Amino acid sequence: MNTKDREYMENLNNNLTRMFAKINEMSLTMAQLETNIKRATESINGWPRWDSELESMPRVESEESPETDVFQMKSSPKVRTLKKEQAPKESNKFVDDGSMHRDSVNQTPDIKVSAKGTRQRFKMIDQTCSRCSKTFEVHPQHARDSFTCDNCLRR
Ligand SMILES: [Zn+2]
Repeated sequence: MNTKDREYMENLNNNLTRMFAKINEMSLTMAQLETNIKRATESINGWPRWDSELESMPRVESEESPETDVFQMKSSPKVRTLKKEQAPKESNKFVDDGSMHRDSVNQTPDIKVSAKGTRQRFKMIDQTCSRCSKTFEVHPQHARDSFTCDNCLRR
């Protein structure tokens, strides 16, 4: 064996030793994992099973008797008390100092209100009948260019 071969063999040996150490480490980790899984499984087995034990557990909300087959909107008192307990008691901290909504946006617009009764009263218009040539006082809504009085229209 020359020196080169010896070096090579030594290197190989070292590498193998390191590999075995790694494998040893890994198997330790595996064992740890296994125990962890075992513990988890045990604790899961301790939980109530859905079909049997959960069914036998006391129910909180249902109070209806089994013979009521009809759909009903019933409010059970137990639910009501539950809701009361769940609702957090918060006091209203708002203090009305009158400062809100006093900005320019919320100001009352400065609009002059028109006075009542300012509408102009209508004035009767004199119209002369085109047939009998008599003059009549007519409401302005009935004023027209060729006016014929009611008497002439009836004829
Ligand atoms: Zn007329």
